[in-house]
Amino acid sequence: MTVTDQQFAPPPQPVPPIAARAVDVVKTYGRGETAVRALDSASVAIAAGEFTAVMGPSGSGKSTLIHALAGLDGIDAGRVFVGGTDLSTLTERERTLLRRERLGFVFQAFNLIPALSAAENITLPLTLAGKRAERAWMDELVHMLGLQDRLDHRPGQLSGGQQQRVAVGRALIARPELVFADEPTGNLDSRSGAALLRFLRQATCTLGQTIVMVTHDPVAAAHADRVVFLADGRIVDELSDPTAERVLATLAGLDVARPDEPVEA
Ligand code: ADP
Repeated sequence: MTVTDQQFAPPPQPVPPIAARAVDVVKTYGRGETAVRALDSASVAIAAGEFTAVMGPSGSGKSTLIHALAGLDGIDAGRVFVGGTDLSTLTERERTLLRRERLGFVFQAFNLIPALSAAENITLPLTLAGKRAERAWMDELVHMLGLQDRLDHRPGQLSGGQQQRVAVGRALIARPELVFADEPTGNLDSRSGAALLRFLRQATCTLGQTIVMVTHDPVAAAHADRVVFLADGRIVDELSDPTAERVLATLAGLDVARPDEPVEA
């Protein structure tokens, strides 16, 4: 092999591409006196291949933010991008297709189909799209999820932790650009929850999967690469390489910063 100059050139500084971005997003529920501004000029960028946790007090806008990023709900102002696609340029039908083809979802309630086996639940997004699972990828996923011996079982025959791992398999089977997880460990005991979080971590490290997880649990958030904190509909802080202690301290700071009574002249 010829040694070229190129081989001695310093490696370029990697700039992680952005998987999704919210720019000055405003979302208001209701009208008039009862209107609630759930997102108040919220801006955040989700780096591709990273595991990002979204935290904040109850009612701070976490669910609204991920619904906006996933194109599940319309917004009143601002822009949302998935990769390079500006969601505001899409029709409702195109947004549905984008969600189906480019995004994956894991919810607190596992939302599995009771009459289907674990394997059929995992491959459901492909079945609905008229596609077949790639055998090698299905095997790898099932192995990573530790579900090899449970594939023929129906959800009712599985533990909560196993059901949630099936739901994660279903979210990943179509190799989505981005997976949204909304309190994925909310219905799990701490041991199953920890196993699931380790799996999500592994999915980012070994598969390069981008994951955005809403959680209220500092221990869960500590599994992420980065935590962004919402308060009153805005991103107010963030931590890289978080620990549960630093997450707790940041959350405590947010509560101190939020007076119970509005301070108005
Ligand atoms: P979080 O996920 O942080 O608990 P949400 O995004 O669910 O917060 O809610 C943010 C704010 O918007 C809250 O005040 C909530 O009551 C309000 N909200 C959320 N969804 C609706 C809705 N469909 N209709 C009216 N208000 C809503």
